[in-house]
Amino acid sequence: MLNIVLFGPPGAGKGTQSERLIEKYHLVHLSTGDVFRANIKGATELGVLAKSFMDKGQLVPDEVTINMLRSEVLKHPDSNGFIFDGFPRTNAQAEALDSFLNSLKTSISVMLALEVEENELKERLKKRAEISGRIDDANPEVIQNRINVYQSETAPVKKYYQEQGKFIAIDGIGAIDHITTRLFEVIDSL
Ligand code: ADP
Repeated sequence: MLNIVLFGPPGAGKGTQSERLIEKYHLVHLSTGDVFRANIKGATELGVLAKSFMDKGQLVPDEVTINMLRSEVLKHPDSNGFIFDGFPRTNAQAEALDSFLNSLKTSISVMLALEVEENELKERLKKRAEISGRIDDANPEVIQNRINVYQSETAPVKKYYQEQGKFIAIDGIGAIDHITTRLFEVIDSL
């Protein structure tokens, strides 16, 4: 199985690149943000809870997120592998993912981290707000909060995978196609 953690700050391009990776490698794309948004749309109990955190740019609590992720993975027992997009976002989530995959007799193959500097991220999120209709993209304070949460809670997850020898940084600046080519080259060399 090919199990990829696609990592990077809000606006790094994880969703865009995931679409290209699933097409080429026939993986299941699991975006925790997308699953939460689908639940908000469907007005489920999980959606109502998630919304109260997401609208402020805060993380949804680990336990809720981890349980949701586990049940999403179990929906695809015959998959070639997964792209985890927006997960893990804390060290506790990374540990839970490892032990869960271990119980399924598989593991993370690699973390690919898209690197984009903060000013460029803010520009991208501002543009995305005009088309996405996402509340958390429209408000500069919420965007700043998401970037701060990324720096304090999520960026340390890199170290977790570095220590396992699974961390690879990818330059996330440039044409979308060029970034895709960089990702393909790395994956093909695994
Ligand atoms: P982005 O990468 O642009 O911030 P996402 O769609 O990945 O957007 O996530 C949107 C929001 O969903 C996050 O700000 C957070 O509130 C919530 N969320 C997504 N993934 C997680 C996670 N793994 N743990 C906790 N909260 C999450």
